Amino acid sequence: MYDVIIVGLGPAGISAAIYASRYNMNVLIIGSQIGGTVSWTHLIDNYPALPNISGSDLSNKLIEHIKKYKNCEIKFDSVNSIQKINNTIYVSTNDGKINEGKSLILALGTDKKKANIKGESEFTGKGVSYCTVCDGMFYKNKIVTIIGSGNSAIKAVNHLSNIAEKIYLVIRKDNVSGNDELDFENIINNPKVEIINNSNVTEIKGTNKVESIIIKTNLPDGKFTEKELQMDGVFIEIGSVPYSILLKGLGIEMNEQGFIKIDNNCKTSVENIYAAGDITIGFSDLKQIIVAEAMGAIAATTAKKYLK
Ligand SMILES: Cc1cc2nc3c(=O)[nH]c(=O)nc-3n(C[C@H](O)[C@H](O)[C@H](O)COP(=O)(O)OP(=O)(O)OC[C@H]3O[C@@H](n4cnc5c(N)ncnc54)[C@H](O)[C@@H]3O)c2cc1C
Repeated sequence: MYDVIIVGLGPAGISAAIYASRYNMNVLIIGSQIGGTVSWTHLIDNYPALPNISGSDLSNKLIEHIKKYKNCEIKFDSVNSIQKINNTIYVSTNDGKINEGKSLILALGTDKKKANIKGESEFTGKGVSYCTVCDGMFYKNKIVTIIGSGNSAIKAVNHLSNIAEKIYLVIRKDNVSGNDELDFENIINNPKVEIINNSNVTEIKGTNKVESIIIKTNLPDGKFTEKELQMDGVFIEIGSVPYSILLKGLGIEMNEQGFIKIDNNCKTSVENIYAAGDITIGFSDLKQIIVAEAMGAIAATTAKKYLK
């Protein structure tokens, strides 16, 4: 039986594994994708001491780090169910094995919501992005579109307004749904920003990278217009979905969207189950590598205290 089973091979899970291994715990870390979301990030320029590192290089460095701990077993696999019976955690993997642990750290991360627009998946990483904090700098003095109307879309516009030359915000309804009024005021007073209401991006076009988008605007009389705009980048900011489907039977408290509620020690509402990284809510709404890693370290420390 492992002292701790960590699910997720992203920054949160790997950081938890480093700390737990160094606490001399008997660790199993399981994940289906090395580096998690980091691995599909083009370039990372905000990770201290490693400027301009590619997502794949950082993922490799993360995995190499935990390979050196003999008390940390790494399993590249998908978890298909998690159960807790009495105080033991049972984690089933696709290889048919049931792995038993005294404690569990959930670091499954999230997936960005896709807009399902024609051309979206083809141009992901080639002009289509889901993260302005990460990829915004590639659009200095360029023309970009942000799709979405919530707080994250508004924040994305504000962020890009310091970088891009022109920003279109395409929203489905006639107004934004985000409630950060100060941020919204900044947008409407910014001459670089053009809000396109009652509209959908129906296609993203290009050859090797994004070159234009088609926007369909619904008119009050039920008709619609379509126009094509030249474009360098499209940011899709319509929210993210936590990978919490596996957690249904555990009785863990989550919010309406399925993000796990935690306290400042990364404890969930269920004893000996901890959570870290993007799948959580209640610690920070900044979803970044450095935050996920900090939470992983805290979760491992809390698990160690529980085992003692
Ligand atoms: C396009 C993009 C660019 C970004 N760029 C930056 C940046 O430049 N700088 C920055 O700080 N942050 C950036 N971020 C944010 C950063 O990637 C995340 O905050 C961070 O990766 C969260 O780490 P995590 O460990 O919580 O989750 P993740 O990185 O998502 O890792 C989750 C892990 O759980 C595993 N998993 C999920 N379900 C299962 C399952 N059923 N079985 C087994 N394993 C499972 C996954 O395979 C993965 O290994 C970016 C995000 C995106 C989307």
